[in-house]
Amino acid sequence: MKLYQKTASELARMLRSKEISSIEITESFIERIEKTDGAVGSFISTRFDEAIKTAKMVDEKIAQGEVISALSGIPISVKDNIILKGEKTTAASKMLENYVGVYDATVVEKLKSQGVVILGKTNLDEFAMGVSTKTSYFKTSKNPLDLSRVAGGSSGGSASSIASLQAPISIGSDTGGSIRQPASYCGILGLKPTYGRVSRYGLMALGSSLDQIGAFAKNSEDLALTLNAICGHDVKDATSSKTPTNDFASFIGESVKGMKVGVVSSMVNDPHVNDAMKASVIEAIENLKLLGAEIIELEMPALKYAIEAYYIIQPAEASSNLARYDGIRYGHRAEQFDTIQQMYVKSRSEGFGKEVKRRIMVGNYVLSAGFYDAYYKKALKLREVIKESYANAFKSVDVILTPTVPNVAFKCEENLSVVDSYLIDIFTVPANLAGLPGISIPTGKIGNLYGSIQLVSNNFEEGKLLKVSSAYEKLRGVIHYPENLGGANV
Ligand code: GLN
Repeated sequence: MKLYQKTASELARMLRSKEISSIEITESFIERIEKTDGAVGSFISTRFDEAIKTAKMVDEKIAQGEVISALSGIPISVKDNIILKGEKTTAASKMLENYVGVYDATVVEKLKSQGVVILGKTNLDEFAMGVSTKTSYFKTSKNPLDLSRVAGGSSGGSASSIASLQAPISIGSDTGGSIRQPASYCGILGLKPTYGRVSRYGLMALGSSLDQIGAFAKNSEDLALTLNAICGHDVKDATSSKTPTNDFASFIGESVKGMKVGVVSSMVNDPHVNDAMKASVIEAIENLKLLGAEIIELEMPALKYAIEAYYIIQPAEASSNLARYDGIRYGHRAEQFDTIQQMYVKSRSEGFGKEVKRRIMVGNYVLSAGFYDAYYKKALKLREVIKESYANAFKSVDVILTPTVPNVAFKCEENLSVVDSYLIDIFTVPANLAGLPGISIPTGKIGNLYGSIQLVSNNFEEGKLLKVSSAYEKLRGVIHYPENLGGANV
């Protein structure tokens, strides 16, 4: 088995027992990226020299017998809407094509201080708006399990970097499903923590009340170690929580006997869910029963309004957050203009892509004096109803199970209508509206791809998600990601 095929936890163990060095690990992943990224397109930029420097530093520490952090010397990829000081952070937009970060995001600062090896920045939909990376100014990331299909979005490059074995762990962001949906498409795990669990300082804001940084990995232990590394209170983020953090690794391998798993049947039976996905979800429910979990049917009718509420609240917040990209303070500036008014209009017209413009227009519309009550205020009310519905459900269950997405990854050439692409998020957005943690876990095979389930727990109970997912993956068996991407010889 090659080093790049191993999980972060396996590599960390080998590093500690001095079987291998961080340089060897890092070089293995760099070679893998060089060999495969032309075909898969996970990265917008790489920083191999810096990565090697960090690896050397960690190796020296180990040689001197110093105590190192759990993920020291382990390579990782980071979504390109998270800022690294002195390096390009583009949000996959022409607007920020040449933007260089002036500080490290808190998560980056944490990773750097723990000696984690950052390999590069991954592709996304422009400003994290989308389900496929097709709205990226640069390229579309391909699905490593089938290169003719999308990797999902918006954190598609992060997900494809894991399934193509270019990195064992990736950091992404999730506003309405952008970690869980691409994780599902690429057959890997994706965890969106509780809102406030991980600092958003240095994450380019999309919907500030919905955004949360989280992680992708091949198994639950790696996710737990990553969460340990990035979570915690941060004075630089006013919404960051002071709730004490757990040792998330302690939940790995625990029994789920007697745990109450609520299944939202209306979502499993939703007409948008295709037959193969539905069968895979039902099989996973049966497996959880075998593990001793108690399955409880749930009715949560309020969740069916989540998509409407989300596509009002999110554009409203996005339109306000994106106002800063005006060609003066940040971003692309048009070369020719006569008046200052024209400069703003031209800079923003040239710098933003179609989907971003659509959201700005919708956002301004729902916030405008004449429509605020009719749309924005109503959506906020719905958000409260959705939160209440979860609070009631968690009185009787530990976690809530639904599909993550209605279907497997679609073909790159398929041009979905706006509404169809928004509907892909029907099962993921409710957790963002309520601020709850959610995980997507790959289930059985569907052709070359995988089905998946989503689990949502109450606030700050990520441990429960990791407990169920680690027990489930033991029963399901390890997934082997193909060295030859999507059958192609690369
Ligand atoms: N697909 C959703 C959207 O386009 C979610 C995006 C996200 O989570 N960043 O808004």
